[in-house]
Amino acid sequence: MIDSHAHLDLADFDHDRATLFQQMHVNGIETALIPGIRESNWSKQIAIANEFNCYFALGIHPWYVPDDIPKSLDALNHHIGIHNADDNFVALGECGLDKLKGWGQPQIELLTGQLGMAIDWNLPVILHAVKAHPELLASLKTYQNQKGGVIHGFYGGPELAQSYIKLGYKLGIGGLLMNPHAKKLHKTVTEVDIKHFIIETDSPSMTPYNSVEKRNTPLQLSNFVQKIANLQKKTTVFILEQLDRNVSQLFEL
Ligand SMILES: [Zn+2]
Repeated sequence: MIDSHAHLDLADFDHDRATLFQQMHVNGIETALIPGIRESNWSKQIAIANEFNCYFALGIHPWYVPDDIPKSLDALNHHIGIHNADDNFVALGECGLDKLKGWGQPQIELLTGQLGMAIDWNLPVILHAVKAHPELLASLKTYQNQKGGVIHGFYGGPELAQSYIKLGYKLGIGGLLMNPHAKKLHKTVTEVDIKHFIIETDSPSMTPYNSVEKRNTPLQLSNFVQKIANLQKKTTVFILEQLDRNVSQLFEL
């Protein structure tokens, strides 16, 4: 199992990171993909990805729109140039749109700059999308990326899911699935072919509904797999194999 989206570089994990990785291995979670969120975090992020054998992506999250967007995009382009040949560098992101935090034209400028860059570098993209699906879909139609990507932390019904799938994107399924009120998402995971999903936790955020621990960790993954298997009416072994194949295919692992 691979956690396809976990911010294990953040300070929340500084005190027990090595122990957590040990526990992950014991529980069959081989590794994680650590997405980038902003320039000031990239060097620690890459160091941790290298130390713990994680995959990583580089990008600028929509919550951290920089004052000088062209300058930050130049810095991103430069860093991708440095790491493009690294075996564990696999994607551009996370980037995206968020109507609940820092919403405005600069988010779109930052996103489209990164979508264009991903195409130039031939990289899949990791996308964050909160309440901005029409705008994100419009941008993805303008910047058609052959490598596709993932709508991480996906929440939506089968119709919305299909609009992304048609454009070549996978859906990142995480802790929201465990919420009994997440009816639309349950419908999507029940009806949509398993080949379009990958799993993720978004640790330390998106702690599942029923969790006793406040901090989310990749150790939650097996609960999500179980839940997907129940909804799809398949065995967990089958679901695990499929999810593994999907993440490997998307990020060419
Ligand atoms: Zn994230």
